[in-house]
Amino acid sequence: MSQNPPNGNPPQSSRYGAGLVPQKEAMEYNCADCGATNEIKSREPIRCRECGHRIMYKKRTKRMVQFEAR
Ligand SMILES: [Zn+2]
Repeated sequence: MSQNPPNGNPPQSSRYGAGLVPQKEAMEYNCADCGATNEIKSREPIRCRECGHRIMYKKRTKRMVQFEAR
């Protein structure tokens, strides 16, 4: 009962509770083949979800990031 944070988040915002962690390491990539936007986390393999291409353009830096498939 006495563990309210000093910032005082309203209890209604507890939708981000268990399991729903905001993605902080996800980055957006554009597929070099089909141009689809993919949101890929840093731990996930770079791969287009639309066509399976593995060459993606990082949206922010616009530098090409290529990952060889083993
Ligand atoms: Zn693609």
